[in-house]
Amino acid sequence: MKIIMLGAPGAGKGTQAKMIADKYDIPHISTGDIFRANIKNGTALGMEAKGYMDQGKLVPDELTVKILLDRVAKDDCKHGYVLDGFPRTIPQAEVLDKALTELNDKIDYAINVDVPDENIIRRMSGRRACLNCGATYHIAHVPPKTEGICDRCGNELILRDDDKEETVKNRLTVYHEQTQPLIDFYTAKGVLKDVDGTQDMQVVFDNIIACLEK
Ligand code: ADP
Ligand code: ADP
Ligand code: ZN
Repeated sequence: MKIIMLGAPGAGKGTQAKMIADKYDIPHISTGDIFRANIKNGTALGMEAKGYMDQGKLVPDELTVKILLDRVAKDDCKHGYVLDGFPRTIPQAEVLDKALTELNDKIDYAINVDVPDENIIRRMSGRRACLNCGATYHIAHVPPKTEGICDRCGNELILRDDDKEETVKNRLTVYHEQTQPLIDFYTAKGVLKDVDGTQDMQVVFDNIIACLEK
């Protein structure tokens, strides 16, 4: 099963993608996580990506597409995957579509996690991230067992630089201009499923599973 998660920054794509990946035992692929790992390791790609990310802009398609196509070509992706944060532009979606078509393959579902902008700003200021294992928490909704420490790996949790309010506003503008058109793109392909992302995360998950298993 090949699944794409769509939605604004902070809509809960990552949270749901991890739960889907666990349930179906398929890889969770987050381009944001890949970029952050590169930044942490000081790679050339990381240095280049950081400039865009800190301003809340998208990393250019030329850089992003290659990383994603290399990743989905790996062996563990044979039985499917959940893409979280890719595609984010129509050209990215077209490249993915072409690559899959050449393999006689396709995306099965694009799940749109719908959350209004007002809720997003509140959610992001409470998000805490582990840069070591990719786990995500929320100080009110999903607190770690020990404040500031990752439950999974014991690393320190951080407020991402790009989760500060000003940058979140930029990211929402970018989302509406460049990413939201993908809703129509996948609707036209007949694979779009809308889910109300303002509900409790277990309810959101149950709704997603209902779409996947219908
Ligand atoms: P969020 O969890 O808020 O949706 P991500 O972790 O997916 O954010 O992405 C963080 C940043 O990484 C984005 O704001 C953007 O700068 C960059 N990025 C991630 N995925 C892509 C992509 N597919 N295309 C361009 N930039 C990307
Ligand atoms: P995205 O990957 O779309 O940027 P995340 O999955 O990282 O979003 O979620 C953003 C923040 O909101 C995190 O702090 C997360 O713990 C929290 N969150 C996710 N889903 C919900 C939900 N259904 N209700 C409340 N908070 C949520
Ligand atoms: Zn961790």
